Amino acid sequence: MRNVTVRLGKQRRYEVYIGAGLLERAGAMLRECRVRGSVVVVTDSRVRSLHGQALEASLTAAELKPAVIELPEGERQKSLEAAGRIYEDLTNLKAERNTPILALGGGVIGDLAGFVAATYLRGVPLVQVPTTLLAQVDSSIGGKVAVNHGRLKNRIGAFYQPRMVISDIATLSTLSAGEISDGLAEVIKYGVILDAPLFRYIERNRDKIKALDGAALEHVVYRCARIKAQVVAKDELDLFLRNILNYGHTVGHALETASGFALRHGEAVAIGMVAAGRIAQRMGAFTAEEAQRIEDLLARAGLPTRLPPYPVEQLMEIMQHDKKMRRGKLVFILPRAIGDAFISEEVDPAVAAAVLEAMR
Ligand code: NAD
Repeated sequence: MRNVTVRLGKQRRYEVYIGAGLLERAGAMLRECRVRGSVVVVTDSRVRSLHGQALEASLTAAELKPAVIELPEGERQKSLEAAGRIYEDLTNLKAERNTPILALGGGVIGDLAGFVAATYLRGVPLVQVPTTLLAQVDSSIGGKVAVNHGRLKNRIGAFYQPRMVISDIATLSTLSAGEISDGLAEVIKYGVILDAPLFRYIERNRDKIKALDGAALEHVVYRCARIKAQVVAKDELDLFLRNILNYGHTVGHALETASGFALRHGEAVAIGMVAAGRIAQRMGAFTAEEAQRIEDLLARAGLPTRLPPYPVEQLMEIMQHDKKMRRGKLVFILPRAIGDAFISEEVDPAVAAAVLEAMR
């Protein structure tokens, strides 16, 4: 097992534990953090059927009293209505201010259960137990919790840090190839923006990673968790540096919206990363060889790199309305080299449109 400490100011900190078989140890880990009595596991039906039993057994073995709130799977659950139903269940379970909520699942469950933990009784302890690659490398760390509002993603939320993150690598073995690729998009993102050795590691070990080799996955999740922890420590409330994590997301979010969310997040971000690389190249900030390396790695990870058939004007319009606009300017995260990126408000919309057109 490895661990990463997320340090927030002088006083606040929490640990991210990464390793295989941690669900079986979760009960004991909670007891070490002085958790006693009732705990509430919030999860979805698919995750519960695959991994719920292991977690519940370890909680019971540690003499904790787990209750489970199970939701249907899917992004639609990230809503105020679903949060309302969980509040009802918590009330019926007589949950108190010190009753921890364990979010067992992917980013949807993490965001939703996190939002509930932040607001129920003005805040109850939250433990993230992420079970997708995306959730382990990204959404479980950093305290952004939210629900969607109508079609507006993550519109209602809070910054609410977990007490602990338990990332059991073994849970990833039940993900589909598409879900692993989705997570890999975010992993490659970290390599490009901040960690050249990680990028090289994925280039050399992508077959092992795709085959879900435990040691390779643990290495990758650990490196990404460390980067996310460092970025969050410097900018907990997303005022400047955290923006760098949006590499690939300016075009990516526009594509997700244009597709009515038919395109998966990782797929959209992958195309967005290619676009950002090519924009940087046109601006003279990045070499063609490195832009090609990014494209090759994404393709080998099973991710798309060409633009789907949405009109470029539509994508540009969505981008202009995106929350990543600042003072009326488009904000792009651009690579300068693999492992080094910068935030730019200087991208000429005509250049962005031309790059997208050339990516058909
Ligand atoms: P998800 O939570 O919808 O999970 C994808 C699917 O995988 C679900 O059907 C789920 O039931 C299933 N699943 C989960 N773990 C499994 C496992 N081990 N084996 C088999 N199936 C499993 O999707 P996601 O990609 O994990 O998360 C996406 C969400 O994360 C989005 O809502 C996004 O907005 C959010 N997000 C949040 C942050 C943040 O900082 N809070 C960052 C990035 C993304």
